[in-house]
Amino acid sequence: MKPTIMKSLRILAGTVFALITMTAHAQQGSCNCNDARDLFTRYCASQSAVSEWNSLISRLRSKEHYDGKVIQALDMKDQVAQCVDEVISIHRQEGPGSRKSGGATDRNCEVTIDAPNACMRGVIAHHESWHKMMCEAHYKPDAPWRTSNNPFTYLPALINRMSQQSIVDYMLEERTGYMLETNYTRDRLEELASQCNDTRVFKPTKSGRSFTIQDCPRPDFANYDRKCSVK
Ligand SMILES: [Zn+2]
Repeated sequence: MKPTIMKSLRILAGTVFALITMTAHAQQGSCNCNDARDLFTRYCASQSAVSEWNSLISRLRSKEHYDGKVIQALDMKDQVAQCVDEVISIHRQEGPGSRKSGGATDRNCEVTIDAPNACMRGVIAHHESWHKMMCEAHYKPDAPWRTSNNPFTYLPALINRMSQQSIVDYMLEERTGYMLETNYTRDRLEELASQCNDTRVFKPTKSGRSFTIQDCPRPDFANYDRKCSVK
């Protein structure tokens, strides 16, 4: 096998292992029927976020290919994040749950969460635990960039992971965060389906004997005045 394929397979295997481990350790935020609408909106928004990341990744990969150079995460991070934030905000406007939640993982791998209650805190914590794990992997003693004996690459990496990250790497990491969020919110909603009498979020299964998650709204993003300008 070609070395590049081997490398891709190793990265893939590592990611799959990480996802399995995270699923096993996933903390269940205590969610009840009052949380169903916010959970549902976040479930739908995270799926749209994954699609948005996919389209941004393909657009910026083409641009890198055309220009013949890698784009650094720092140069475009705010612009691409704006595009995805808009998609999530449109879901909050069109979906049944409008409360805002968010989180961040800083350069010291410390997580901050802004959420209205324990259930949504669990959703954001699950997403951020992925970034925390990636962040800690970067700061491990045997992280690949540490083997560099060039201080001009070593020091900036030590100071800020972003300075060594390409925009595509950044977007791939975010896309995984939203995939994890989709799985997590789906699991919580399925646990609630049989208990909550909320037709905005749940619908009867074909057999009519139990309940399942409603279809997600499909907002027409083109109808919104968007600031996203990544082409
Ligand atoms: Zn994220």
